[in-house]
Amino acid sequence: MTDDSQLSNVMTRGAPEAHQRALILKRRCAHCAEPVSARILLKGEACEGCGRVSRWQRDADADALILALDARWSRRRWWVYGILAASTFATGMFPLAATLLTVAAMIYARLAIIRSPLQWFDPLRRFTSRFTLRLWMLITGLMALVCNELLTLVPWANMPLKMLASVLFVALFVEGSIFFLRGRLRRAASGDSSLQLWEWGLPLGLTGAALGISAAAVAATLFIIEAAQGLWAMFLGWI
Ligand SMILES: [Zn+2]
Repeated sequence: MTDDSQLSNVMTRGAPEAHQRALILKRRCAHCAEPVSARILLKGEACEGCGRVSRWQRDADADALILALDARWSRRRWWVYGILAASTFATGMFPLAATLLTVAAMIYARLAIIRSPLQWFDPLRRFTSRFTLRLWMLITGLMALVCNELLTLVPWANMPLKMLASVLFVALFVEGSIFFLRGRLRRAASGDSSLQLWEWGLPLGLTGAALGISAAAVAATLFIIEAAQGLWAMFLGWI
């Protein structure tokens, strides 16, 4: 046993292994409990506060981290879906209300559910992941906008239909983001910081999709306006 680990054993006597692991999963030093960067833990570098090394157990800790985040995600997302369903049902007859509530739910989910795991990533993976998730929010938000505003035109059933559409698109955003994060987190927590090609390709593809959906939404709006004007002119011609 080295002097260093003997010292470490003396200093942490009474602090059981489970407590140390819990600290590490909260991105804290296992010895002095100071917050440390993910890089220091994942690469086994010395703590900037006390100079000791918190040992990251590659596979075991990667699993435990994802389990802890899963528990946190599942606690919060049912509240988001429940409140969103009730509020979009109640405001279903008004234009834009359901869309605004949908966007608000996405922003809340982003802050409360999706943001914190990004801190475990290297700068490059954090950049591509954040960009990917923002584009995913833009795309699901645009689809919710188009869908909800078209449903305003269905006067007898717009409340339940808007509720369904809003929950569907928020769930698509949240569950898609969690699926993506779980995979990236497992890779990062297993100590592999290299980006795969598709981690660059996905945000580029989503940018194209976002542009395509925006163009389609504008074209559809112009078409509806033109069709309405044509009908109106025909109607005026008749009378
Ligand atoms: Zn420390």
